[in-house]
Amino acid sequence: MMDQNISRQLLTFLDASPSCYHAAANAAAELLAAGYTRLYEGEPWHLAEGGRYFTLRGDSSLIAFRIPCRDFRGFMIAAGHSDSPTFKVRETAEVSSAGNCLRLSVEPYGGMVMRSWLDRPLSVAGRVMVREKGKVVSRLVNVDRDLLVIPGMAIHMDREVNKGTALKANVDLLPLFACGKEPGAFRRLIVEEAGVEEADLLTTDLFLYPRTRGTLTGVHEEFVASARLDDLQCVFGCLRGFLAAEDSSSVPVLAVFNNEEVGSGTRQGADSTFLTDVLRRVNGAMGRGEEDWMIAVANSFLVSADNAHAVHPAHPEYADPSEAPVLNGGIVLKYNASQRYTTDALSAAVFSQICHETGVPVQRYSNRADLPGGSTLGNISTAHLSIPSVDIGLPQLAMHSAYEVAGTKDTEYLVRAMTTYFGRSFRVGPEGIQI
Ligand code: ZN
Repeated sequence: MMDQNISRQLLTFLDASPSCYHAAANAAAELLAAGYTRLYEGEPWHLAEGGRYFTLRGDSSLIAFRIPCRDFRGFMIAAGHSDSPTFKVRETAEVSSAGNCLRLSVEPYGGMVMRSWLDRPLSVAGRVMVREKGKVVSRLVNVDRDLLVIPGMAIHMDREVNKGTALKANVDLLPLFACGKEPGAFRRLIVEEAGVEEADLLTTDLFLYPRTRGTLTGVHEEFVASARLDDLQCVFGCLRGFLAAEDSSSVPVLAVFNNEEVGSGTRQGADSTFLTDVLRRVNGAMGRGEEDWMIAVANSFLVSADNAHAVHPAHPEYADPSEAPVLNGGIVLKYNASQRYTTDALSAAVFSQICHETGVPVQRYSNRADLPGGSTLGNISTAHLSIPSVDIGLPQLAMHSAYEVAGTKDTEYLVRAMTTYFGRSFRVGPEGIQI
């Protein structure tokens, strides 16, 4: 069955991507295998018609594109994010704790459901900077074994534990690393994983991740349960669609941004110049001028793909009764009157039309009118590059838990819709909109 196959490939991608750095590296590896050339922002770009390229910023954000012809019409962009809520391990990692225990000093990254991180095997992954032949280079690290656990309180000691006891990040959420005093053991472990001499490990960007692997659940395997479905399910679906799409007269652009979970305001986040820098550079490298650029921007479109809330089986009251997406019900268009989601009549019409032609069902989501929702990539990106944008996502439960649940069919729906989308061109003219 097609969707089960895609879901198993999704699980492989999720399990191989324990950190935002691994997610970007895995996307890059798929692009290289498909014949794409890696470009470096600090080197000259020599682009050609028919060329396929990608570039990385901060080892964790990626933009890929194909150039169909010199006089391309515009950019057909889709964006997702590589990061998920987790805990960052501090450089001074070890903390002596009561009970002759050594714990790791960590700090929350993004807004996670804290209790979901308790009492389960965890490990550490990310990137490290190492000295190699007189240069500083970045290296991926994944301690690929059950290394840590954050023990919760026994019910006998905290009788309130099932009544929503608040957890303090600096007290309750430090993972147990060792028994006894063994100063420097964590650093030695990372040195070993990085394959360098101890003196050559310079600095680290390491994060916790749950060791529980992604899996298919439900009587007919209709659910996919995994860490990091938000937003790697969308990243995977957009990447597959991007690779499978046919050429059009526009430039298909796949963007994967880091730091969405902490507001996107970083050098490689959606609230940076990364996307505009890359697209302007494509325009210039193809020998096109400012007027060509302005026309291309006017004839561009953005799909901001970030997971959405499905109606919860135990708590349907949190959903708006008229706009409550269900798992396996198709791609969700996200609406917000205050425009925290960018979807409007124009962008919804364009994207719904593409889904309709592809036989992909579309659902609608609005936050319950009295509840503020989350924000995402769309309105942040369009502040830098002002083009029509639609906010979409795949319906899921338990968003920002260490382990989330989504629908298996929905991944396939996204791959199909994005395969069609990336093969299209968008044009706004006096006679209306053409896609
Ligand atoms: Zn997200």
